[in-house]
Amino acid sequence: MPELPEVETVRRVLEPQLAGAVIDSVCIRDPKVIAHPDAEAFKESAKGRRIETLSRRGKFLIATLDDGSRIAVHLRMTGCLLITPSGYPEEKHTHVVFTFADGRELRFSDTRRFGRLWLIRKDEEDSFTGISRLGPEPDDPIISGEYLSKKLGGKRKTIKESLLDQAVVAGIGNIYSDEILFAARIAPTRRAYTLSMDERERLARAIPERIAFFTETNRISPEDYLRTKGKDYRNTPYIRIYGREGEPCPECGALLRRTVIAGRGSTYCPSCQGAEDAQRE
Ligand SMILES: [Zn+2]
Repeated sequence: MPELPEVETVRRVLEPQLAGAVIDSVCIRDPKVIAHPDAEAFKESAKGRRIETLSRRGKFLIATLDDGSRIAVHLRMTGCLLITPSGYPEEKHTHVVFTFADGRELRFSDTRRFGRLWLIRKDEEDSFTGISRLGPEPDDPIISGEYLSKKLGGKRKTIKESLLDQAVVAGIGNIYSDEILFAARIAPTRRAYTLSMDERERLARAIPERIAFFTETNRISPEDYLRTKGKDYRNTPYIRIYGREGEPCPECGALLRRTVIAGRGSTYCPSCQGAEDAQRE
């Protein structure tokens, strides 16, 4: 699933190409991917509008239109946005096509079909997307040891699950929660309330640092993005531990282990992250 660094990568590729584009028509082949309003109303509201900016909040992309309405997109597992010249060969599972006045197209494809689009009108309250319930962005200066104490203080949930909670910090998923916990030297299995103030402060520093690092290492040119059909923009060589169980830890050489926490696989170094202590709890 794309997490903040991947969604930001997509935004950086698409924004310069989308800004100023005028939506001539919208073709919705699978109405299920339109979460709000219904497909007909979505088409009618988007038609003729000019896209002003493309922003991001957590894992959502948000196109602001010239009448003040917004189109929000969540890619979920396999959603993909591609801007193509007209007549460009179409991907399988293309569910929505925006055609612009200059002939280019913005195509939304999704193999698993969990991705969603919403159109929120200017004066409409957004009770649909979940954006209003998101916690701060990872680079928000509010994130400190104290903030994490307040958010995690009494939680019996593990720290891994707590980092996946979009209301605590927006945009973090399975991969980068492992990377952040490794950088902060905290075992994913630790219960959030057992973290010391020192550990909370390490975590508060690791969150913006790791997310910024992976956002930068993920950079891709618009040409490469189109050539790889918008599907290959995670720069995996930079990932230090996620999915590398059985390999030596890049810091200490101990073998990385995998555990399952609330249904999600998590990789950690038993030595660097002090997992033995956590097991005794
Ligand atoms: Zn290690």
